[in-house]
Amino acid sequence: MIIDGKAIAQEVRAEVKTRSAAFFERTGRRAGLAVVLIGEDPASLVYVRNKMTACEEVGINSETYRLPQAASQAEADALVSALACDPSVDGILVQLPLPAHLDAQEILARIPPEKDVDGFSAYSMGNLTLGLPASVACTPSGVMELLQRSGVTVRGKHAVVLGRSNIVGKPMALLLLAADATVTICHSKTTDLKSLCCTADILVAAVGKPRFVTADMVKEGAAVIDVGINRVDGKLCGDVKYAEAEPIVEAITPVPGGVGSVTTSVLVGHVVEAAMRKANA
Ligand code: NDP
Repeated sequence: MIIDGKAIAQEVRAEVKTRSAAFFERTGRRAGLAVVLIGEDPASLVYVRNKMTACEEVGINSETYRLPQAASQAEADALVSALACDPSVDGILVQLPLPAHLDAQEILARIPPEKDVDGFSAYSMGNLTLGLPASVACTPSGVMELLQRSGVTVRGKHAVVLGRSNIVGKPMALLLLAADATVTICHSKTTDLKSLCCTADILVAAVGKPRFVTADMVKEGAAVIDVGINRVDGKLCGDVKYAEAEPIVEAITPVPGGVGSVTTSVLVGHVVEAAMRKANA
């Protein structure tokens, strides 16, 4: 089975649109997302544009607040603090990566938990770790949507997560654990990576290295989720050698058209949920 991220993204987005319309009907206002964009990172500009388009599609008011590359910590902190107090803002997203001179955690800490639609703050990550209600990062949430909506059973399975970043690997592992998988997290210092991967019923690749996962790292009948987005010779590819792995596995996500497609739909869902919780709608 090739997991169709685009189709699932459309499905999720249609559901969010319905909830967004219901929110408008009940409260007379639209849910609001504030996006903070600092600097000129070309990939970030594209991601932010896609997020704004998705908001428009589902009936969310979105506004991008831009600061120059050289913005100071105080300016960035002040902007996020002001958005935190703005009643028209239900969700705040600080587009990462930030310029190197800025302390990202310091800025993220200013997002109140109820507006943290990206789930990157220490508070949200802490709650996720404790199994308490939490905002969860959109990419790992999207992976769980893909698994659930494609009928891949997680409970009791051995899931191997390649990568331990704060935005993908760690929250991914925690979500799989919460869904009753037995989870192994691998990283650049893991020894015998290949044999660990070969025991995975569910293999999530979030390494950021093109075609890193080869056929001899994949168990027959596994579900392989490729989070990687890499550009090689101007073309997008994932962290998995798709052509090699696809004939062996039970289910796999392509790149493009897999995880990346669903992330933005999950984000707009988080914004509407945050607005509903705030309004008790
Ligand atoms: P990071 O670079 O932050 O993390 C990469 C992880 O992979 C690290 O934990 C690193 O280990 C590990 N790693 C690197 N090399 C190896 C190796 N040889 N063997 C085992 N592990 C290794 O990346 P992100 O988590 O931010 O992103 C991962 C990928 O996902 C990227 O391609 C990114 O573009 C993509 N992405 C996709 C999104 C989507 O919506 N589809 C959203 C976000 C990211 P260590 O910690 O030891 O350094």
